Amino acid sequence: MTDKINGLHHVTMLASRASANNAFYTQALGLRRVKTTVNFDAPDVYHLYFGDELGRPGSVMTSFPFPNAARGRRGTGEASLTAFAVPVGSLGAWEDRLAPLGPTTRETFLGEERLLVEGPDGESLALVEAPGDARLPWTGNGVAEDIAVRGFHSVTLTLREARSTAELLELMGYEEAGREGGVTRMRLAAGNGAQVVDLHEDPAARPAVQSAGSVHHVAFSVADRATQAEVRRELAQAGFQATPSIDRDYFWAIYFRSPGGVLFEVATDEPGFTRDESAETLGTSLKLPRQHAHLRDQLVRHLEPIEGVA
Ligand code: ZN
Repeated sequence: MTDKINGLHHVTMLASRASANNAFYTQALGLRRVKTTVNFDAPDVYHLYFGDELGRPGSVMTSFPFPNAARGRRGTGEASLTAFAVPVGSLGAWEDRLAPLGPTTRETFLGEERLLVEGPDGESLALVEAPGDARLPWTGNGVAEDIAVRGFHSVTLTLREARSTAELLELMGYEEAGREGGVTRMRLAAGNGAQVVDLHEDPAARPAVQSAGSVHHVAFSVADRATQAEVRRELAQAGFQATPSIDRDYFWAIYFRSPGGVLFEVATDEPGFTRDESAETLGTSLKLPRQHAHLRDQLVRHLEPIEGVA
């Protein structure tokens, strides 16, 4: 399936308060909320999407905020760190910007400068200085172009045993690109800019407990449904049973469990977030999946108000 996977598509996390989640990703990190909708399976829960101007694949953090959720616990079988790419030389400005919100840690890892930060639900995030990232940033939330987030840099998967997940990623077109401190870096030679997955092997760690602040699943990008069908066939040949393709309104998705326990998704770049809103107004009104449209009045009364949603 070499050349079919373009990199990350989106990362979906669990959260608690929607307003705090929204404020952090839009105001602190400066991402654009590109869609305000609800969970397909639990329409009384928001599904929020944050990314670049259009929510291009490789830039989109999404969240399911369950208002009273307890915090999750980091461990094996999950994506334990989500990293965003920022320009070289910008981390000092980011330290100043984020310090009032909580502790940050600056370090060099695999030759890159990065700043570790925690989101409002204790989610583990990093900003990584990535040279030569040509992706255009969203600057509409007041973060200047010379420091603004370009999209994802990587996710780190924490695993009891990394080899079998490395083999899956090799099948998906990734190649080993370095090692440091129990982490094996896997990278796609070409793609959408979000081309790195780090595998952190930690045989002694406890299994993760997924709740607020945990990554629920990691989605990889393919161009279209035909490519997705080919990927699904090749996964089946390798022993991975993915779900049938599911219409998620803004992309088509298949899901399967990776060997280390992390839920993987393969999502299409089509049709994208302008399917039901103009590029100018993305994210500013509550969009409901067709099967939940009749619940609108009830949901509007129930869901926590979010800044910038009419
Ligand atoms: Zn997803």
